[in-house]
Formats: sequence, C-alpha cells, structure tokens
Amino acid sequence: MQFAVIGNPIAHSLSPILHNHAFSSLGIAGFYGRYLLQENQSFYHLRSLHLKGANITVPFKEIAFNSCDEAFGIAYEIRAINTIVFEKGKMLGYNTDALGFYLCIENLALKNALIIGAGGSAKAVAHILKQKGISVTLINRSKERLRDFCDFECATFDTFTPKNTYDLIINTTPAGLTNNDLPLKKEFLSPLLKSASLAFDLIYGRETPFLTLAKSLDIATSDGKAMLINQAILAFEIFMESQNIAFDPKILRQSMQNIL
Ligand code: NDP
Repeated sequence: MQFAVIGNPIAHSLSPILHNHAFSSLGIAGFYGRYLLQENQSFYHLRSLHLKGANITVPFKEIAFNSCDEAFGIAYEIRAINTIVFEKGKMLGYNTDALGFYLCIENLALKNALIIGAGGSAKAVAHILKQKGISVTLINRSKERLRDFCDFECATFDTFTPKNTYDLIINTTPAGLTNNDLPLKKEFLSPLLKSASLAFDLIYGRETPFLTLAKSLDIATSDGKAMLINQAILAFEIFMESQNIAFDPKILRQSMQNIL
C-alpha cells in the first residue's frame, strides 16, 4: 500500500517522516514516499504510479483540482486540493490545509485576521476563518490573485491601507522561507503586529524574519509546524478510511506529534 507527496520542489517535505512513522506506530503495512512532478509533466501521469493516495503541495494544488474526477467539502469550494485518493480508476480530492490551520487557533478568542498573501494556502485559511465567523482582510503584493477572492466577502488590498487593527496576522507567503525577506515592509508590519495578539507563519523549519520581528515586539508567535501535523493527521484519516482500515486515532496523533 503506497502513498506519496507530490510537488516541485519536494526534497524538503516532511510528510514522508510523519506518515511513515504513523504506519510503523500503528502496525499498518504502508509506505509513503515523495515524487517530483515536473512542471511540464501531465498530472494524469500520477495514475500510473499505483498509489492508493497522495498529498499535493506547491505548485500543484489548483492543477490537482482541475484534474480530479470529484472534489469534496472545502476542496470543492476553494478549488484547491492537497489530498487525493485513487479509487477504482478515479481521483478523488480533499483539502485538509484549512481545518489543519483552524485547529491551531480554535481555542483563541479572535474577531478579525489579516492574511498576507493570496495563493492556495491563503484561500484555505481565508475560507475556514470566514466559515468560523472571523472577519478576514487580505493583502497581496500583486492584484491578479486577489481576483480569486471576489466570492470570499473579505476586504482585499494590493497596497497598504492601515485602517484597522487585527487580532491575528498570518503570513501565507513564502517570504522568509529561503531568504531574509519580510512579507510586508517593516514600517507597515510593525504597527500591525504591535496591536495583534498572535503572529502566525505557515512556514515551518526555520524562524522567519516575520516571526523574529513579532517576537522582538513581544507578540505571541506560531510557525507552521502544528498546521503541518494537523493536515497530515487529517489526510492519513482519509487514506485509511478509503482502505477500510481501522486504527487508534490517539496513537496516530501521538506518533505524528512526537516525530517532529
Ligand atoms: P502560492 O505560490 O500559491 O502563493 C504565494 C503567495 O505569496 C502569492 O500570493 C504571492 O504573491 C505571495 N508572495 C510570494 N513571494 C512573496 C514575497 N517575497 N513577498 C510578498 N509576497 C509574496 O503558495 P502557497 O499558498 O501554496 O504556499 C505559501 C507558503 O505556505 C509556502 O511557504 C508553503 O510552504 C506554506 N504552507 C505551509 C503549510 C503547512 O502545513 N504549514 C501548508 C500549505 C502551505 P503574487 O501573487 O504577487 O505572486
């Protein structure tokens, strides 16, 4: 029973560690690898890999939506898929990023949030926050991708307009992933952070300049590790359900939380 994470680049992905550790902790005979899909390669090529399921990462989440036979729940609504089940020759799509993010902040009393960035992960985060009654504002450096948010009923900006304060500020851009960039200019970001109760960066594995700045202002911070683990747990549950395999959810959670 084989699974994989599909993306480009893919070498950095921690998903194989999480899923393989879960398989061994639960005593399930499964293997989870990584697959580098070339950007010019057809997504349908994945059908020939004989996988039972896959996770999809940058830059294929929207392509996955267009390639799946069916999409369920939030995946259908935001047109982005991060989890695929291969069943009877069909590709079935799900999105676990949205709930994976929300589980990280569900115990906080938050009224409003500012999302920096307007890509696939911003869509997942914006959608779930709106669904849970948290008001959302988005800022992105370019206008084009903000058009995708027309249906989201949230304020969008491509230039900075400091009108409000926000309880939660989320970096959904890759700024700081492999460089020392901030997602917004420091003179704009600092006052926003000062009035926030949490700065959340989806990036994991390193302290980004965004989180360093928030810490220097004594603001609580969270990186993307807990979200990564949550979305992996939810995807694992979907994979096992598709194979009719029962397991102890406590062991699954502990195994993924303890390995990173
Ligand atoms: P996308 O490529 O879909 O979107 C990236 C967005 O960030 C775009 O709106 C882009 O703007 C903007 N952007 C890119 N570079 C910069 C920059 N230097 N400064 C300001 N804005 C920038 O990516 P995803 O949404 O799929 O992923 C974004 C990040 O979130 C990645 O680092 C990914 O690893 C992380 N992630 C983490 C997860 C987790 O579980 N922790 C889950 C999902 C994603 P423009 O439109 O102008 O190009």
